[in-house]
Amino acid sequence: MKALSIRNLTKTYGNGFTALHGIDLEVEDGDFFALLGPNGAGKSTAIGIICSLINLSAGTVRVFGHDLVRHSEKVKQCIGMVPQEINFNQFETVQNIVLNQAGYYGIAYKEALVRAEKCLKQMHLWDQRHTVSRRLSGGMKRRVMIARALVHNPRLLILDEPTAGVDIEIRRSMWQLMREVNEQGTTIILTTHYLEEAESLCRNIAIIDKGTIIKHSKMSDLLAQIKVNHFILDLADRLAQPPVVEGYDIVQLDSQTLQVGIPGEKGFNQLFLELTRQGISVTSMKNKSNRLESLFLDLVGG
Ligand code: ADP
Repeated sequence: MKALSIRNLTKTYGNGFTALHGIDLEVEDGDFFALLGPNGAGKSTAIGIICSLINLSAGTVRVFGHDLVRHSEKVKQCIGMVPQEINFNQFETVQNIVLNQAGYYGIAYKEALVRAEKCLKQMHLWDQRHTVSRRLSGGMKRRVMIARALVHNPRLLILDEPTAGVDIEIRRSMWQLMREVNEQGTTIILTTHYLEEAESLCRNIAIIDKGTIIKHSKMSDLLAQIKVNHFILDLADRLAQPPVVEGYDIVQLDSQTLQVGIPGEKGFNQLFLELTRQGISVTSMKNKSNRLESLFLDLVGG
C-alpha cells in the first residue's frame, strides 16, 4: 500500500489563483521522499491539503489507503506534521508540549507519559524535559517540534523545511535523527531548499514548479541525468576578466577563483589545454557538489 497517493490534485484559491494544476504524486510506504521546488511552487499548498489545513478544489488524496475527504479522522491519525515556523507555547515545558499534543490525539495520560518519554529520548531532549521551551537553543526547539509530531506514532511524518536557518552542524545532527526515525519504519516527506539535504537523505524525489510536477523519480535516476558538473578552480595569478572557452560555462567568483560548468560529454583536457594556451595556471580544483541544483536549473529552465 502507498503511504501517499495523489491524483489530479487541483487547488484554486478564493482569489481565483490556481496554485496546483492537477498534480499526481505517489510515495511508497517506508520511503524518505523529497518535495522540492522554488518559492511559490505550491509545496505548502500541497502539504496543507494533505494535513487537512487547506481544502482541495479537485482530485483525490489517499493516505495509507484512507481517502482524505471521506475519512479525514483516519488520515489525521496517520500524519505527524512539523511546520516550518516554531509554533508551540514557548512558556510551557518541553514535556508538557508533547503531552498536550498526545491529549489532542485522545491518548490517555498514563500512555502519553510513556510515549512522551520515548519521543523525547529519541530526539535527545529527555534531560531538558522540565525546561521552559523558550530557554532552549534553536536546534533544540526544532527537535521539540519533531518529538511533538511523533507522539501519536504517525506512519507518515511530514517535515516542512525542518532545518531552515540552523547551522550546518545542527543540520547534520538533525539529518541523523531523521534517518533514525525513517529506519524505524516511519515514512518521511521532506520539503527543503537545501538540495544537498534531499540528496543526502531521500530515496525518491518530486520537483514541483508553478503548481506542476516537473519530475518524479528515484533520486539516483535524477542524479544520473545531470548534464553539467560544476567545479571550482583556484588560479595561480589574478585575472581581470573570466576566460572564454567554447563549450564550457565559466564564471569568475573572484580575481583568483573560477567556477566552471563541464558538460557531461566533455572532459577536462580541452579546458586545461585552452586555459594553458591563454596563460592561465590552475593550482587546485574541487567539485562544487551542487549537482542537484544544476539539474534543477536545467529542469526549470533557469
Ligand atoms: P511554496 O510552499 O512552494 O513556496 P505555496 O504553496 O505557499 O508555495 O504557494 C503557491 C502559490 O499559491 C503562490 O503563488 C502563492 O502566492 C499562492 N498562494 C498561497 N496561499 C494563497 C492564498 N491563501 N490565497 C491566494 N494565493 C495563495
